[in-house]
Amino acid sequence: MIVTRELSKVYGGACAVEALRGVSLEVRDGEFLAIVGPSGSGKSTLMNVLGCLDSATGGRYFLDGEDVTRLDSDDLARVRGRKIGFVFQNFNLLPHLTALENAALPLVYRGVPLRERRERAAAALQSVGLYHRRDHLPAQMSGGQQQRVAIARALITRPPLLLADEPTGNLDSASGGEILRCMEARNAAGTTIVLITHDEGVARRCQRRLEMRDGRLGEPR
Ligand code: ADP
Ligand code: MG
Repeated sequence: MIVTRELSKVYGGACAVEALRGVSLEVRDGEFLAIVGPSGSGKSTLMNVLGCLDSATGGRYFLDGEDVTRLDSDDLARVRGRKIGFVFQNFNLLPHLTALENAALPLVYRGVPLRERRERAAAALQSVGLYHRRDHLPAQMSGGQQQRVAIARALITRPPLLLADEPTGNLDSASGGEILRCMEARNAAGTTIVLITHDEGVARRCQRRLEMRDGRLGEPR
């Protein structure tokens, strides 16, 4: 699913920051990989590059067999739309939309007709155990439930890859466990997952773990 060769990322400006220093990574189809590491080590930078939200300044990146290293922003957006679902620390649900409407949102942008949107969003909420909450607003749900709606939204277009950046960062450990179980179920259904976290307890539950340190990725110590 993912092959990178010596990715580097330098944020420009007066005092340049080398956020990635030669990251080589392979993630197979169907894997569930956790990337841990302290704050400032480059985890979100790597996530943004893997997610085609930003480009590396050096190295190569192949996503699902396609060389995406030097695509322009329009082509990156196209790849992103077809291949990748995102989950972030802040659930980023729209406050005036119900759980069902939030989950269906990516389909609105694709011009999917209302009836099909509702059916697919209902199925997506079912898959994260929240069908009974479909008509609730985000403010009427717990943080863990909101994050599960965000997962349903991320996967409603059926992308092969889910990237999650600190998805349990704002949650207590019980809700965090709920999110992990939910992602494990989606992984078992075939979605490749890269989970970024600074929580060792969360990471230990994943199939495979790597550690980011000062822009370099390696085996955890
Ligand atoms: P993490 O997610 O592990 O906390 P980040 O990838 O956010 O780490 O940041 C890695 C390094 O890059 C940090 O030193 C951070 O200050 C720097 N950095 C991140 N984003 C930017 C940016 N847009 N411009 C300049 N420096 C940045
Ligand atoms: Mg981060």
